[in-house]
Amino acid sequence: MTINHQRRKLLILGVGMALTAPRVYAKSVAVPISLTSDASHIHIVVPANDQRSRVFTLDSPHRVVIDVPLEAFPPSLVHSLTVLKQKFPWLVHSQIAHFTPEITRVVLEVNAAPRLQRSQNAGSLTVNLTVPNAVAENLPAAAGVAAPVVKKNLLVMIDPGHGGKDPGAIGNEGTYEKHVVLHIAKRLQTLLDQDHGIHAVLTRQDDVFIPLYHRVSLAHHHQADLFISIHADGFTNDDVSGASVFALSPHGAGSAMARYLSQSENSVDVLYDDDVKTDDPYLKETLFDLDQRETISRSLDFGRHLASNIIKVHHMHSPHPEQAGFAVLKSPRIPSVLVETSFITNKHEEKLLGEPVFQEKMAHALATGINSYLLNEKKNNLLS
Ligand code: ZN
Repeated sequence: MTINHQRRKLLILGVGMALTAPRVYAKSVAVPISLTSDASHIHIVVPANDQRSRVFTLDSPHRVVIDVPLEAFPPSLVHSLTVLKQKFPWLVHSQIAHFTPEITRVVLEVNAAPRLQRSQNAGSLTVNLTVPNAVAENLPAAAGVAAPVVKKNLLVMIDPGHGGKDPGAIGNEGTYEKHVVLHIAKRLQTLLDQDHGIHAVLTRQDDVFIPLYHRVSLAHHHQADLFISIHADGFTNDDVSGASVFALSPHGAGSAMARYLSQSENSVDVLYDDDVKTDDPYLKETLFDLDQRETISRSLDFGRHLASNIIKVHHMHSPHPEQAGFAVLKSPRIPSVLVETSFITNKHEEKLLGEPVFQEKMAHALATGINSYLLNEKKNNLLS
């Protein structure tokens, strides 16, 4: 699903100019539409007191329709829909359409009768959506999957690095980081589900650009329990090779390599992303916050479980988790790591990265590491 914003703008402009008496609405909309979720519900927030905002259902097939003023529609919603479709098997299809030049319509097709609970306060209408009698065939629990490691439905957010206009590092033979990491991420998602009964979602399923801070927001807004960003980086010296695992450092990068990589991974938002906003309350929290320290300690532990499995299939650039200031790791409360699966600028590793056998081996090592970390957390009663 993609939206051509430029085309939409032109369309709106054209239609708007053709109207002899365009309706005038209040200029500022305090509440943009947002789609967030917990383990069982999608939370839809739309502006209240605006006749253009509506949430209603249709039958045959079951659909939930969200109409909002165009100006209340943030582009990041597309990424939310990508995550929600993977998270809730009862959400079979989602579509964004233009209902009128002023109104954007989001249609969520669900596989059984939806239940909507409405509440309104201070300019916003919140609709909590769930499907209590979801058709079981589409649910992973019915697919003969091994019993989950814990009772609670855990959600692992897998973040394939880069995408779209940001290719990431490029190998000497022309291999793009953004493509190989998406292959590994998709294999990891399948292996977690098949071998360990762990539900995982991807921040992107296609070759699309997502700003770094949106990736962090997605993990929060959909209540991920773990976050793993997958990369295959480059370096100026093509002798450098091996995998590395990083957790966030509150004090800047640990080693010279960590410093270099955090610069190259973070620079994309400086280069490309003019809509990075740090007004997200999560991101305003100071890194010295107690939550963050606790999360870093758990992230390092998560990283050790990953490293001890990666080392069985590939050599490590550094055998222990390192720490660096990667933007995608700045999630208070969600243990987060960034894995450099290898160096795409190294001739041998660029070749490996393109091979399905290596992608599978790496995905398998990551899946085993995630499972072993979660089992350990469960043992220590750190999971609710
Ligand atoms: Zn990268």
